[in-house]
Amino acid sequence: MADLSEFSLIKQYFSELTAQRDDVLLGIGDDCALLACPADQSIAVSIDTLVECVHFFADVCPKTLGHKSLAVGLSDLAAMGAKPAWFTLALSLPKVDSAWLKQFSIGLAELAAKHNIQLVGGDTTRGPLTISIQVHGIVDPKTAFKRSGAQEGDLIYVTGTVGDAGLALQSKLQPERYTEISETDLQYLIQRLEQPTPRVEIGQKLLGLASAAIDISDGLAADLGHILEQSGVGASIDLTKLPLSKSLSELPRTEASKLALSSGDDYELCFTVPQQYQQQLEKTLADQCTLIGSIESKNGLRLLDNGKKISLEEGGYDHFG
Ligand code: ADP
Ligand code: MG
Repeated sequence: MADLSEFSLIKQYFSELTAQRDDVLLGIGDDCALLACPADQSIAVSIDTLVECVHFFADVCPKTLGHKSLAVGLSDLAAMGAKPAWFTLALSLPKVDSAWLKQFSIGLAELAAKHNIQLVGGDTTRGPLTISIQVHGIVDPKTAFKRSGAQEGDLIYVTGTVGDAGLALQSKLQPERYTEISETDLQYLIQRLEQPTPRVEIGQKLLGLASAAIDISDGLAADLGHILEQSGVGASIDLTKLPLSKSLSELPRTEASKLALSSGDDYELCFTVPQQYQQQLEKTLADQCTLIGSIESKNGLRLLDNGKKISLEEGGYDHFG
């Protein structure tokens, strides 16, 4: 958008959106931002793009969209144990809609303030509504969690509850199937889908305890699968231990397990912890995480039902086979 309105738009909505950090030597307004990284630390970088009608419904509230656009990046930082520092924003807009921009920027600013992350640059173009955010965090490369760090015997945990965003999506796509869910519960589920909570503080508390971590964007089975593959190990998880919110626990069990295992967008963390840190971990995180299984040397993911092995087919999960 190489017209005047691009500059006034940036100035009006984005130039002073977030608080100033001391490590931003030069922020929005030049060709590049200049950032100072502490010695011996690394910059953790990740980018995510949200496209209208692919990643969000066209009628989604712009404020919640602002929140989610940043939340997904913060969740990646959390999964590395990185501390949020800076982000850039590439916006493609079909038109300049002041009311939309105002709400979008508020959603973005509120979450940014919570995590002390500063907007330091971006790009604004005309086109189909698309939001790309690149986040930058600071982490000690020696303690950052890698997907390759899990070892036989490690315990597997997840934060929060899983499957909520998936159920919210299903209930939007097929409302007639979920008439039993109360209005209050539905509101909660929709909030889980549209305004996920990135587990940044938990990621920080896991430093020195977790051997591997990932954030759940594609579904627990798939994302844990990435840890297993990159660590060259396997795992068993017990379906009866999966942490479920009220609405999921009221569904038929097979459907609840399926959502908990295979639906994405929850942005909880799944992480592994060597057994010697179990006590410390459970003291540190108390009720913020749930033990769901353990890492084994034999490759693949095995499902248990109260300790008893069930086949993937039996549970209806043959698509993970
Ligand atoms: P250039 O043409 O040199 O890439 P632009 O004219 O695109 O610069 O942008 C001017 C300044 O505004 C730059 O510092 C850029 O990082 C910033 N900027 C552009 N769009 C956004 C945006 N959506 N959010 C934040 N900063 C932006
Ligand atoms: Mg530009």
